[in-house]
Amino acid sequence: MLIGKLDEKNRRLNNALAGNVDAKMVTKDKAVDLAEEELRDVDVVETYVPIFGEDKKVLGCFEVYINITGYREMIREGAIVMTSFLTIVLIAVFGFAYLLIRGGTIQLKEAQNKLETMAVTDELTALSNRRYLLSRGEEEFERIRRNRMRGLRPADMGCIMIDIDHFKKVNDTYGHLAGDDVLKEVARRLSLSIRPYDVIGRYGGEEFVVILPDTLVEQCRVVAERIRVTIRAEAIEAEGKKLFITVSIGVTGSSENDTRLNDVLKRADEAMYKAKAAGRDQVDQING
Ligand code: GH3
Ligand code: MG
Ligand code: MG
Repeated sequence: MLIGKLDEKNRRLNNALAGNVDAKMVTKDKAVDLAEEELRDVDVVETYVPIFGEDKKVLGCFEVYINITGYREMIREGAIVMTSFLTIVLIAVFGFAYLLIRGGTIQLKEAQNKLETMAVTDELTALSNRRYLLSRGEEEFERIRRNRMRGLRPADMGCIMIDIDHFKKVNDTYGHLAGDDVLKEVARRLSLSIRPYDVIGRYGGEEFVVILPDTLVEQCRVVAERIRVTIRAEAIEAEGKKLFITVSIGVTGSSENDTRLNDVLKRADEAMYKAKAAGRDQVDQING
């Protein structure tokens, strides 16, 4: 049964008449609906459905047109909503991950800085520890040695060694904690007596060393005298007691005969012992 024209050139119609369902979506610039209304730019699903007789013979076919243009807008809106949603989710996920990583990195950096500071600092006095003091001293010593080897006039390096007088007596009389208070306050006063580019550190129990780059031994002696006066000037409060503390100081400068930093330190130590032997609370000097 075929109502309507049999179009020999319509391959799809012929396919349906051969017994196959043939469906396809097509976009038409122009179409007319059942109410004879003209439609423009429409998406239509064209389906050819064969009609079979009792003997399975194809009697004819239906041509079914379904206008699906309305879905186009729905799909577009859906895509926009999904894209926006995914964008927001991605921003949230990446933002959160970024904050987590940044937070972790900051904490790691803080921990690293703390460890680095701890590695170079004396816990009690907050001055440089012996190891860092010596490594900075070695750097300065090497700089002078290099300049000398290049034939340049080497810069002078000063070294001051400070030892608290009768410190054992402080511990024995007022206790170890009072001794610690004295060490902290002496360290604070030492820091205030030197220049920012001088290197100061705790060399031993109650011994401190200052390395003074580009400084003549005469200038070092002036700094040492200032340190001595600053320490003895005012009483130090230790465990509720006011104690008057003095220091003995040895001063030296670098010499071209020095082969190691140790040579300079040894001379400063000798000068300090000379100050002790001469009655303490004084500065002594051995030139390099
Ligand atoms: P001198 O005038 O000859 O230097 O006498 P001194 O008593 O200062 O010298 P000595 O070397 O005999 O004593 C140093 C003392 O410093 C002994 C030690 O118990 C004490 N000491 C070392 N480190 C610390 C510390 O961290 N805290 C305290 N409280 N005492 C310390
Ligand atoms: Mg000592
Ligand atoms: Mg001492």
